Amino acid sequence: MTSAELRKAFIDFFVKNQHTSVHSSPVVPMNDPTLLFTNAGMVQFKDTFLGQEQRDYTRATSVQRCIRAGGKHNDLENVGYTARHHTFFEMLGNFSFGDYFKREAIQFAWKFLTEELKLPEEKLWVTVFEEDQEAEDIWLKEMGVSAERFSRCGAKDNFWSMGDTGPCGPCSEIFYDHGADVAGGPPGSPDEDGDRYIEIWNLVFMQFDRSADGTLTPLPKPSVDTGMGLERLAAVMQGVHNNYDIDLFQALVKKASELTGEKDLSNSSLRVISDHIRSCAFTITDGVLPSNEGRGYVLRRIIRRAIRHGYKLGQSQPFFHQLVQTLVEQMGEAYPELAKEQGNVERVLKMEEERFAETLENGMKLLEDYIAEMDGTVIDGDMAFKLYDTYGFPIDLTADVARERNLTVDEAGFGEAMEAQRERARSASNFGAAGNARIEFDGSTQFIGYQQDEADASIIAIFVD
Ligand code: ATP
Ligand code: MG
Ligand code: MG
Ligand code: MG
Repeated sequence: MTSAELRKAFIDFFVKNQHTSVHSSPVVPMNDPTLLFTNAGMVQFKDTFLGQEQRDYTRATSVQRCIRAGGKHNDLENVGYTARHHTFFEMLGNFSFGDYFKREAIQFAWKFLTEELKLPEEKLWVTVFEEDQEAEDIWLKEMGVSAERFSRCGAKDNFWSMGDTGPCGPCSEIFYDHGADVAGGPPGSPDEDGDRYIEIWNLVFMQFDRSADGTLTPLPKPSVDTGMGLERLAAVMQGVHNNYDIDLFQALVKKASELTGEKDLSNSSLRVISDHIRSCAFTITDGVLPSNEGRGYVLRRIIRRAIRHGYKLGQSQPFFHQLVQTLVEQMGEAYPELAKEQGNVERVLKMEEERFAETLENGMKLLEDYIAEMDGTVIDGDMAFKLYDTYGFPIDLTADVARERNLTVDEAGFGEAMEAQRERARSASNFGAAGNARIEFDGSTQFIGYQQDEADASIIAIFVD
């Protein structure tokens, strides 16, 4: 089954079961300024779950475009290292707003996997929250799931909450066993972090309202929110272990290979580039531009990281924007907004590539020389700051290079160097020469203008992060 067929099979199944199909919302949340990016299917339904917004349906299903590259959920560091994480992915979800609860949610999920998709039960593993006897009974007694492929887990993975207060509740997760030749133990075991058992679906049962003092009160109308990664499911259905080997990603990996000259399609830089083009293209489609703050800085960091991986493969000319065409071929039908913005996305990426090309090569040379001569395994904060300040290397880019060589970066030292720079900028501007002072900044600090200090009427330069 192709990714496109899976998207459709999922939506069709839930529509057949009285769910209303709702199109993906943008990756920039429309109703939540506190959230950097849409990181789950439930985000666009948040107010409905809270009872603050009424919809004319109580069951919904969607394929939501998600980004986990900043804030509470950040999988940026996992990309290129695990078989299952992306900065951008599609979350298949079904939702009940005070309609059905645990029993039906479990029945739907099991039916979809084992009957619609015909996955063998022996390959699936189920977890519940350790205190959720109700869900456990449904799985073991009603659904007949084997206790040998079942475990109870703690709150870290199996209890969900919207925030410190408000709706929360236990989860039940379904994993797929990719077989003994992949390292890793079953969920709940000491070596669960491996990639043998891959989590595919999370069913969240919104059961309680948590008050400020921690008391849990049962919600009058409990709800359901589920999320399943399309790419992980596609890997299962296509008989591959690694998400980057599915149809959709292979098209991008091949294009990246063509553009960089790297022939080995399992090369991790090709995977990183293929991952990053998706998050960058959709972020721009949804209205973000590279900048030095907030979402725009997350975007800039991801673009620069992708460019650095291209450079690592020997490509120092702009290439990244040329992947947009392939992405549109793969995803433009499911996301017409992407197809519509293609030209704009290409332009923005190309500009950022040209801009970074001016400093990337010199910055990399400096870093290489430093690494060749350094003692120990920690790149010092001043070096990381120089790369940031003069060459536009976001700190995570330097850390990414370091990790490839089994090195780390002194991030605290980097922070101190940044603070010292600000301090110098502040005092320089207090000499009254601020109007003439030229302070070079790149990275997260941006000069926005001058202002008169209230205390001594001196002129100060104003920067924002
Ligand atoms: P993991 O433990 O593998 O990091 P998670 O528990 O953080 O996953 P959830 O928050 O439960 O994930 O999200 C629901 C589903 O979305 C997951 O079961 C998985 O299929 C998918 N998913 C989550 N994060 C990613 C990601 N970074 N890339 C691809 N799919 C993801
Ligand atoms: Mg995770
Ligand atoms: Mg998990
Ligand atoms: Mg989970």
